[in-house]
Amino acid sequence: MDTLALERELAGEVWAQSLPYRNLVEMCDRFGPRFAGTDGYARAAAWMQARMREYGLVNVHGEAVEHMGWARGEALLRVLAPYEVELPAFALAYSPAGVFEAELADMSYGSAEIMAERGAQLAGKHALMTNANPPGYPRYIHRKEKYARAMEAGATGFVYASTGVGSLPFTGSLAFGQAGSIPGVSVSAEVAMSLRRWLESGPVRLQVIMRGGGSSAALSHNVVGELPGGAVDAPQIILGGHLDTHDIAPGADDNGSGVVSALEAARALAAVGGVPGARVKVVLFAAEELGLLGAEAYVAAHTSELDAIRLVLNADCVGVGGGMGICTQQWPALTEALRAHMRQIDETANVNDGIVPFSDHFPFALQGVPAVMVSGGPGESGRGFGHTACDTVDKVSSTRLQGVALNLARLALRVGSDGDWAIRRRAAEDVRDMLVSGGHDVILRMDGRWPFAD
Ligand SMILES: [Zn+2]
Repeated sequence: MDTLALERELAGEVWAQSLPYRNLVEMCDRFGPRFAGTDGYARAAAWMQARMREYGLVNVHGEAVEHMGWARGEALLRVLAPYEVELPAFALAYSPAGVFEAELADMSYGSAEIMAERGAQLAGKHALMTNANPPGYPRYIHRKEKYARAMEAGATGFVYASTGVGSLPFTGSLAFGQAGSIPGVSVSAEVAMSLRRWLESGPVRLQVIMRGGGSSAALSHNVVGELPGGAVDAPQIILGGHLDTHDIAPGADDNGSGVVSALEAARALAAVGGVPGARVKVVLFAAEELGLLGAEAYVAAHTSELDAIRLVLNADCVGVGGGMGICTQQWPALTEALRAHMRQIDETANVNDGIVPFSDHFPFALQGVPAVMVSGGPGESGRGFGHTACDTVDKVSSTRLQGVALNLARLALRVGSDGDWAIRRRAAEDVRDMLVSGGHDVILRMDGRWPFAD
């Protein structure tokens, strides 16, 4: 096989028209937010199936994901002391509704260290925590961890403060696939600054008020298709990303960008005749934003195929910025192998051993499957406009989507057709070591996601 000749064809396919951006705009404009369990999600999923068929993919279908859904109600903070004022807030996904009155306590970053030091002051109070990470902290402290630590300390509510200026609060879910037991709201940096200023001179008493909405059983579908011609027992490459979004924006970067890039990679590969010797699937996951629920369901429904999966390329938030990052989940041999290819495909790509337990590659990685997260490059940490009302198509670059799609297609081609590929699914002990080495075991236990018996 002449890889370079095929790659030239792929490049022509991708660069001759700007399909990924056109698909992104159409999807965001037609269906709006694609929150799991809603009509907007279901319509976008049906539209994606039609696109897959149009692009020559076969065995296109939906796979049911039963999950806990959630609907937004109205939210606000009614401050009772030191002043009687109402402040804007909005509910975080899985928050219960009601009126919850308590004093507020500032828990800053909400890290394990801060909670060990001042968590005792939190019992019976609402926790104010920032969405930022402590400077220099060795791993990312996710919102769900902060919420869990607040509950552990006996908090009665969770007030999650943005750090960016401009009254732009972040949304997000409070727990993995289940209703939260204490209320959670998000406030802008400006609201948080007022609350902190008042806390400096005395107690702040407030009501977290949420009317309507709440959690209930829901159904979404993963969207699955594959390139024609792949043998059933051939090594598999999965190109994927989450199709769902939060409910306050169309999720252009998070994660319309990953979805249209994965789709474009598959379209281009189909147009050049597929990946010799491999079976290439496209899986667009449901309910990632509610706790990686679609990817978990996929892994559970395809246990007999896990040994055959050579690589999962999970594209999440690839539409903004310049660089491309690939995190292999603490797998040095995989890092080396992918780095060797990326040196030829895109020298600036940052291929590293990083562990990211918060996107759809991770349920695969927990099963020892080689599964990587494809995202922005170094220096592009933080969510940007992701999880805000401003995650709209104007933030996304068309040429970047094309670049990422071509990189995904070339990597899929190279790894899928490599007769000497030596990386195999990891044993459970190796997965365990990977988690412990990054300090992720503690968090997974807190979340109820620890996959081992102990
Ligand atoms: Zn995402």
